[in-house]
Amino acid sequence: MPDQRTHEPSPAVAPARGFADRHIGPDPAERAEMLKAVGYASTAELMAAAVPESILNGPGGAAPLRLPEAADEVGALAELRALADRNQVLTSMIGLGYYDTLTPPVILRNILENPAWYTAYTPYQPEISQGRLEALLNFQTVVADLTGLPVSGASLLDESTAAGEAMTLARRATKSAGSTFIVDSDVFPQTLAVLRTRAEPLGIDVVVADLSEGLPEGDAFGVLVQYPAAGGAVRDPSAIIEAAHERGATAVVAADILALTVLRSPGELGADIAVGSTQRFGVPMGFGGPHAGYMSVRQGLQRQLPGRLVGVSVDNAGRPAYRLALQTREQHIRREKATSNICTAQVLLAVMAGMYAVYHGPRGLRAIAERVHGHTVRIAEGLRGLGFDVAHPAFFDTLRVRVPGGASAKVAAARELGINLLRVDEDTVGVSCDEATTADQVRRVLLAFGGSGSGAAAQAPDAALPEALRRDVDYLAHPVFNTHRSETALLRYMRRLSDKDLALDRTMIPLGSCTMKLNATAEMESITWPEFARLHPLAPLEQAAGTVALVRDLERWLAEVTGYDAVSLQPNAGSQGELAGLLAIRGYHRDRGEEGREVCLIPSSAHGTNAASAVMAGMRVAVVACDDGGNIDLDDLHAKIDKHRDALAAIMVTYPSTHGVYESTITEVCRMVHEAGGQVYVDGANLNALLGWAKPGEFGADVSHLNLHKTFCIPHGGGGPGVGPVAVRSHLAGFLPNHPGQPDAGPHTGVGPVSAAPFGSAGILPISWAYIRMMGEQGLRDATEMAVLSANYVAKRLAPHYPVLYTGSGGLVAHECIIDIRGLAKRTGVTNEDVSKRLIDYGFHAPTMSFPVAGTLMVEPTESEDLAELDRFIDAMIAIRGEIDRVADGSYDAEDNPLKNAPHTAEALTADDWKHAYARAEGGYPLPSLRLNKYWVPVGRIDQAYGDRNLVCSCPAPEAFED
Ligand SMILES: *Cc1c(COP(=O)(O)O)cnc(C)c1O
Repeated sequence: MPDQRTHEPSPAVAPARGFADRHIGPDPAERAEMLKAVGYASTAELMAAAVPESILNGPGGAAPLRLPEAADEVGALAELRALADRNQVLTSMIGLGYYDTLTPPVILRNILENPAWYTAYTPYQPEISQGRLEALLNFQTVVADLTGLPVSGASLLDESTAAGEAMTLARRATKSAGSTFIVDSDVFPQTLAVLRTRAEPLGIDVVVADLSEGLPEGDAFGVLVQYPAAGGAVRDPSAIIEAAHERGATAVVAADILALTVLRSPGELGADIAVGSTQRFGVPMGFGGPHAGYMSVRQGLQRQLPGRLVGVSVDNAGRPAYRLALQTREQHIRREKATSNICTAQVLLAVMAGMYAVYHGPRGLRAIAERVHGHTVRIAEGLRGLGFDVAHPAFFDTLRVRVPGGASAKVAAARELGINLLRVDEDTVGVSCDEATTADQVRRVLLAFGGSGSGAAAQAPDAALPEALRRDVDYLAHPVFNTHRSETALLRYMRRLSDKDLALDRTMIPLGSCTMKLNATAEMESITWPEFARLHPLAPLEQAAGTVALVRDLERWLAEVTGYDAVSLQPNAGSQGELAGLLAIRGYHRDRGEEGREVCLIPSSAHGTNAASAVMAGMRVAVVACDDGGNIDLDDLHAKIDKHRDALAAIMVTYPSTHGVYESTITEVCRMVHEAGGQVYVDGANLNALLGWAKPGEFGADVSHLNLHKTFCIPHGGGGPGVGPVAVRSHLAGFLPNHPGQPDAGPHTGVGPVSAAPFGSAGILPISWAYIRMMGEQGLRDATEMAVLSANYVAKRLAPHYPVLYTGSGGLVAHECIIDIRGLAKRTGVTNEDVSKRLIDYGFHAPTMSFPVAGTLMVEPTESEDLAELDRFIDAMIAIRGEIDRVADGSYDAEDNPLKNAPHTAEALTADDWKHAYARAEGGYPLPSLRLNKYWVPVGRIDQAYGDRNLVCSCPAPEAFED
């Protein structure tokens, strides 16, 4: 061994690499190569050319950001550990829609912690999404069976917003006069509060009534009953439902999904709509979320359902295949006429809840419900034995105990014993049992009430369920809920599903506007730590000190990077952030006595959610035209401002534009709108092109929502979860969301909650916290530069083969580019859809199809893809262009060619009767590199229209898959 001390450090030893170098795909050599292709000497020079000077964050865009110095993975995880340790996980028996649950470890690790599931995108490309579509169909089947209503979607964000959607659905579907929606006084308080937030701008009167005394007099278009009631009582809602129907009103039942395994279903009792949460089906409470809400409807309302519905169709070989049905892209297409603004939903959590039902099966679920009920009965009996008045004779899992003047003392005594009970008021304590409740906890609850600690006698498992409401209709008879009983079988089932899909763990997903970047493992790791995952959202705040500190850090950092003054993390999707931001604008105008300001200007290129959200916020949409360059047409903007001057509430613009261009006129647009008394909403979904370089709050905007599931690394989860924080300048800060259950969650002057939980989907905030913590100022700036360089590299290399639709200054794009297929389609008949499906044969997820421009593909490579992967995509696109040319010159048949027949399944390519005019290998291995790594699509191209004509949206019988 040579003496180490005499050696100089070897120049070949690489410098320590920070997290940012792992997050950003291209290394310095690759960066140099890409810059050369784009024609710039440095990324700083590229940014200077692309980004208008007027919006830069200080001279050269280089003003410092007040963020902590970047930590590496080990350091960030240690800090997260310290934050987690500041949380205190007590047993929460608070109820109110949130219950502890035992996530089966096989589901925790192989779904929630598995990138094959969590890095997938919304299944708009159904051929590469069959696995998650099947999992969602399982979810829909669970909801439909348990609620007794035939059509269930898979798209609701939480129980309270689901109730809000049911309210507006009822209004659309009901011919009866009136603008009154009657709500059970025994409803979850957060649901009532969200209903009020949503009702006010729409002119709906929410009337709260004690429905145990019947339906109040007067016109109403709908009524909502909580079943079992928030206070625990199990009452038969059928008389209320009947009375509602007699008056022509729609009946909504908010039902507990676990209780429905032992209680008669809302459908059986006559309800038109059922809503609720599936949290307690194996999804950790997470201090409020994320969880999947649910909604199911009776026959006849399926075309009114908000959000997405998974359905069954057939592929080009006539085999059953899943895809999103009916209203799939409805807010994109119908815009201000959409039934809701829901886009990102809660797919990953819906998959978990569905899988929980697959794991337990109908008998297992019923056994859990009976155990929960049994514990509750023992507590009730014990308390009655101690002389307490327990409010309701019929209950499922929740009790109300009368303790005149003594609630605080009892709640404090229970806390000493490690249990959170609910202080309803000073005379009443609430207790809720759940799947995780143990006999020892039952004993401790009784101890807190002065019992001796010896347990009460066991009771029949359904002792306190009213005879007339006991469920006698079977559910979950489908084989999927009855075959995967062993863990081995379930593991393989889940693996079989995820193997059918393309997610980021297999390939780049170049979806424009979606920012499919790395979701680093170090960012994900802490979300399933019990200290973050098992907190009840209404637990005393001091038990969540670590999470609250994390929330405050994140609020501060997001305000810093966006130039705003205040941030609310409550909205649990971008769409909900939009609603919150617009409600802030509405509140501001009204506060100044300018009620008449109700027009929202929206450029024609805007994301569909913008218009849908504006309508929900009580605004009228006026569309502003775009010019031939794709930019906001300033003349038309002038005209629209003039036309609506006194009624102008706001403009809602996306920046950089949805066309992927830094519009140089943005500061002028802001000035014009401000001058007319309007507010400027900048949709921040494209922040990945600005971060560190420009701050919307400083270049003229008043409010933005951000998408933490785009720019800040929360994985898309196959279509959710997301977090859509809303960020505002100080004059709007008093109009941010707040929450009835948690005064610290927002300003007391706020507009009410937009989500069920005080801090929204707090359980996944550690992901974005870790991203910012590990990137630091320089890392964030570098990521933006690289995102812009990558998009320009793709645009530059594809330009000789496909027109790039819009560019800004210097012929540059921002962080994404639009590839125009329309000219080729006109000449050859090969459409953007054909190109998308053909990309599957090359192993890629298609870019965004036909948004924001029909007939195009929008590519957003992000900073996380290295040069080899970018080139692999570019090579595939160039090869496809070659195939299009062969259609053009006649060497491929216009109909029977690899593009029109794409994607090719292994079955089709190996069939004995290959009848196509091109070689099998051209179908399956169009590039030699595919022989080393080939994704085999499980179904051929899916017939969309067939599935809409023959709507099936629960699991098809196994015979459907036989020959
Ligand atoms: C993604 C997106 C939205 C909607 O966000 P969700 O979280 O899906 O509701 C809004 N605007 C733009 C420009 C987007 O790209």
